[in-house]
Amino acid sequence: MGSVPGQMVTDGGFVSRENILVMKEKGIDFIGPMGVGVAQSAGQMKRRGVDPSFYPEAFHDDAVRDTYRCPAGKILSPDGEEKRPGRTNHKYRASAADCQKCIFKEKCCPQNETMGRVIVHGVDDPVVVIHRKKMETEEAKQIYRQRGAVAEFPNAWIKEEIGLRQFRLRGLIKVGMEVLWACLTYNIKQWIRLCWRPQWA
Ligand code: SF4
Repeated sequence: MGSVPGQMVTDGGFVSRENILVMKEKGIDFIGPMGVGVAQSAGQMKRRGVDPSFYPEAFHDDAVRDTYRCPAGKILSPDGEEKRPGRTNHKYRASAADCQKCIFKEKCCPQNETMGRVIVHGVDDPVVVIHRKKMETEEAKQIYRQRGAVAEFPNAWIKEEIGLRQFRLRGLIKVGMEVLWACLTYNIKQWIRLCWRPQWA
């Protein structure tokens, strides 16, 4: 409609940290639930052949010394940070000497041939933290609940009845025309069902 919306509601699949920051920058009230988003997922650990008993939860952090202690009692020290949109990942690394001779190495870091095990501690941007807190409020949940009736049904109808599962044309203007025709058809159908037909019933 040529203007930026004051509020936007999306499902969880679109609620990335990056999108939260962009929405904040544009002054749009963004509503949508966010996953937990751990820095090192179970999937990553599995792909690296790490035994579940050596997943990050098995490492204990010492906030005072800014270190982690591994299941073998060795210390992991700060080893830099990686900035991502909406999150900073702080890395902690064990010494190569400790890990390469450790009896748990095959369970803890089997693919690590020369270095020490790394643990990543992710810290969310304050804007992301505020978004999470907002989504815990009853007001935000109430707004989000409306999404099913307002957006899901028309989306499903346009996909199933009109078969608009992907655009046939390219470019914003042409795609916009496709959407416009689909929405117009939906609105006329609903008008027939809800207003026009009942008067003849
Ligand atoms: S491999 Fe390294 S990090 Fe893992 S338990 Fe052994 S010493 Fe600790």
